[in-house]
Amino acid sequence: METKILTYHEDFLELCEHIRQCGIVAFDSEFVSDISYRPELGLLQFATPERCVAVDPLAVAILTSWWDIMADDTTTVIVHGGQAEIKFCVQMCGRIPQKLIDIQIAEGLRGRSYPMSYSAIVERVLGRRVASSQTRTDWLRRPLSPEQIHYALEDAAFLPEIWERQSKSLESCGRLQWAHAEFDRMCQDIFEEEKTPPWERVSGIHKLPRRDLLVAQRIAKWREEEAAHRNRPPRRILRDDLLIDLAKRRPKTVQQALATRDLNRPEYRKRLDDIIVVIEEACSVPDEQLPPRLRSRDEFSSDEQVISRLLGLALGNVCAELDIAQSLVGTNRDLTELVRAVRSGEKTGPPRLLDGWRGEVFGELLRDVLDGRVRFRVAPPNSSTPLIFEAQE
Ligand SMILES: [Zn+2]
Repeated sequence: METKILTYHEDFLELCEHIRQCGIVAFDSEFVSDISYRPELGLLQFATPERCVAVDPLAVAILTSWWDIMADDTTTVIVHGGQAEIKFCVQMCGRIPQKLIDIQIAEGLRGRSYPMSYSAIVERVLGRRVASSQTRTDWLRRPLSPEQIHYALEDAAFLPEIWERQSKSLESCGRLQWAHAEFDRMCQDIFEEEKTPPWERVSGIHKLPRRDLLVAQRIAKWREEEAAHRNRPPRRILRDDLLIDLAKRRPKTVQQALATRDLNRPEYRKRLDDIIVVIEEACSVPDEQLPPRLRSRDEFSSDEQVISRLLGLALGNVCAELDIAQSLVGTNRDLTELVRAVRSGEKTGPPRLLDGWRGEVFGELLRDVLDGRVRFRVAPPNSSTPLIFEAQE
């Protein structure tokens, strides 16, 4: 394989034109996420049926032409665990890919592990070995060595062949539609997540009473602005647990704030003056203007948890039978949400496990279990599934 890296804007534009004509491209990127406000791209790798090339985003600064292609409805883009790539796309052009394929999801629909690493999928599907990716590389350093570029290109190179085989096998077992539904859902989920205000992602914020919640929201907003201004990750400006601590204690002076030991660190201490002002302002907001309490996403009753574990057994059993990854089908939270929705008649749209292909494949069994219409026992050794679920007479 050539270790080609494009550094000129004209060459990049020509590559984009080539990708457009091919109508399909494999894409991977390398980035560094813990030093700046947003992850910083270090390399973009592309594989078309004819070419496998990298683009240097430090040299080719304007990548708009590519993000437009990624989001268009004519070019198929193949990725592996493409969450980061989709996020870049949303941030850069405000849209999500229309024709995305993720081989990690595809593999979870025809085998029981999810998420699988790229090298594991290459080995499983193509029977080839690739070096695991260069996790220690600083992708913002220049020059990159030919080996580094070579390994990075390998991350894109095998994607088309893998998808070719996966799509045939998914087609033959009637799961190709599931795969496409999942690809679209991943893109949509990321789009929604990017739209949620940053404070909603502060861990622990869902448990706060209304006044504390308002203070936390205001500090989080200040943190976001500070992080953007200084081009640092928000959590480096102030950790989530310290943010929540400040919102609960609402110190009036820097001295009071310092009662929490970690806030004595120089990087936090120098910002406490600003934070105290934010807290003071939030405390002066009248009661009737406080935000409503948030519903905690993780607070489920112990009954709900017991029943969802039982549902998990039923789900795991069918997944074993179908040879599909349970972690892709539904998480513990999905199960508990289903229990809550069905038992309390809570109406917030169909629970994920009863929606789309999941509903078609698993819905009936899950409902039967929930309604007490089945009993189960351990299957004899060498059975196709570990448990047997039977209709209750
Ligand atoms: Zn990579």
